[in-house]
Amino acid sequence: MSPRLLVIGSSNVDLFATVPRHPFPGETLLGTGGARAAGGKGANQALAAALQGANVQFVGAVGDDADAELALAGMRAAGVDLDRVVTVSGAPTGLAIITVSQDGENTIVVIPGANAQVSAEQAVGAVERMGSDDILLMQGELPPKSTEAAVRAAGAAGLRVVLNVAPWLALEHDVLTAADPLVLNEHEAQLAVAEFGLAPEDGGPMAMARALRMAGAPSVVITLGAEGAVVASAEPASQVSGSRAPVSGSRVTRLPSPRVTAVDSTGAGDAFTGALAARLLEGDDLQDAAAHAVRVGAYAVQRRGAQPSYPRAGQELPGTFA
Ligand code: ATP
Repeated sequence: MSPRLLVIGSSNVDLFATVPRHPFPGETLLGTGGARAAGGKGANQALAAALQGANVQFVGAVGDDADAELALAGMRAAGVDLDRVVTVSGAPTGLAIITVSQDGENTIVVIPGANAQVSAEQAVGAVERMGSDDILLMQGELPPKSTEAAVRAAGAAGLRVVLNVAPWLALEHDVLTAADPLVLNEHEAQLAVAEFGLAPEDGGPMAMARALRMAGAPSVVITLGAEGAVVASAEPASQVSGSRAPVSGSRVTRLPSPRVTAVDSTGAGDAFTGALAARLLEGDDLQDAAAHAVRVGAYAVQRRGAQPSYPRAGQELPGTFA
């Protein structure tokens, strides 16, 4: 069987409101439109990877309500294996309330519902069924104990873990050292740097990525919205002259994003991370996988919504760099 991407994560219904601008606290504003769609960072990334051609299994939880089918619909249509999704009786399916303003900026409130019931046992059980070439992909929307237990189990078994700590989770050091790569946006990277007491020289993304790698993450990817992404990984052995010692230096690269007209950035980070994991599963190195992922992210921001904005493998991606 071909290697599989195991995504243990959240699945939600996204409730969108489009607004001329974001309301102030206490203000009532008339929206210009609304929609409901499948979402959740786990489901989004599973779908983005499956559309890029990866063999994906999704493990998570939905409620015993009418939203459950909508939450899973996008993944089901893309052929994601949903056999290990549990239905939690008495819990609602996760819900995200998203407002998108005219300039494409969004605000999001997530109500976890059944996602909060994904247990460490369910997550570790899924990791125990992984094959040696499979990759585990997780995010920050499940209970931290479940996420940490699964990442630790995968790390102990020598399996590759892609960990997108969004929203940010205060990570134990041994979880950081299992993340290859640790994927964060710039804000989450600032929280990570503070969490581990790091003081990168200039506070910029390249310095933050280098600092997080030196703190123990085998590799780090920081996404920068329209500015693309920064990738830090081990210096290739061929570039460490005359040394047979273990490699400790970092290669830090900036990958620009194509210049596009952004209409809605919702789920762009998930498009990026799902595509990145799909390419790693195919055997790309991290730089190549990330170079593809920035183009998938740029594709996604040109369309409304999260899952409906993701490209299929082979679809033309933006590629005119800024
Ligand atoms: P979100 O939480 O909205 O899903 P994020 O903060 O996790 O996003 P970003 O860094 O905003 O992630 O975006 C992820 C990727 O999407 C970027 O690395 C880039 O490739 C692409 N991207 C995002 N915004 C733009 C933009 N305005 N123009 C071009 N590409 C973009």
